[in-house]
This record gives sequence, C-alpha cells and structure tokens, in this order.
Amino acid sequence: MTDCLFCQIVAGEIPATVVYSDDELLAFRDINPRTAVHVLVIPREHHSNIAEVAAAEAALVGHMVIAAKVIAAGEVGEASAYRLVFNTGAGAGQTVFHAHLHLLAGADLGAMS
Ligand code: 5GP
Ligand code: ZN
Repeated sequence: MTDCLFCQIVAGEIPATVVYSDDELLAFRDINPRTAVHVLVIPREHHSNIAEVAAAEAALVGHMVIAAKVIAAGEVGEASAYRLVFNTGAGAGQTVFHAHLHLLAGADLGAMS
C-alpha cells in the first residue's frame, strides 16, 4: 500500500466525492473547500508536482486543463468564470505531493490581488 494520500484515493482505499473520471484522470471535491466549487483534478499516475507531470508527459497537463473546463461547465455553466491553481512546492502551499490542479469557481471566487 502506498503512503501517498491521492494514490490511495485513486485506488479506492480512501473515499472521495468523485465528479469526473477517465482513463488518465480523477477529479473529486476538496475536503476543505475554499470556494463554493473546489475540485481537485489529478493524474491517476503518481507525479509529485505539476512540473514533473509536464516533464514526463506534457500532453497530460493539457488533458487536466481540458477536464477542468468540462467540470467547470457542469458545475457553474459554460459562461461562468473559474480559477485554476497548481501549488508547486511546500513554499507555495503544496501539502499533498501528488500533482493536482485546484479548480475554484462560484460567486465567492473574487479577484486575485
Ligand atoms: P495543496 O495545498 O497541496 O495544493 O492542496 C491539497 C488539497 O488537498 C487541500 O486543498 C486539501 O484540503 C485537500 N485534501 C487533503 N486531504 C484530503 C482528503 O483526504 N480528501 C480530499 N478530498 N481532499 C483532501
Ligand atoms: Zn500519489
């Protein structure tokens, strides 16, 4: 058994509220949502951060962004705005070292300062 939390979610060993799934990706609701819609999009394969995903398989980064667009459309509508965030490294707030894309949306999104 892996000690990576998100690998355990991929394996079904830890429950998550899954909103999207395909052969390469899984997306589920963040356990501590910061906005009305807060979904994490992750590759099924383990990479410790998004830079490692890009280095190993650049097309997978695009796949994650397209999946986020599809999920956002389902959650808040085609015309609505959303924010995508990759925290990369502990100094930037990364706490789970399995690459993940934060999809943030909803009326409480606000502007970045
Ligand atoms: P990071 O800070 O690494 O960019 O984001 C990790 C995210 O994973 C955080 O927003 C945190 O709330 C979320 N998270 C941590 N543990 C779990 C969990 O067990 N289940 C789910 N669904 N999200 C989690
Ligand atoms: Zn992992």
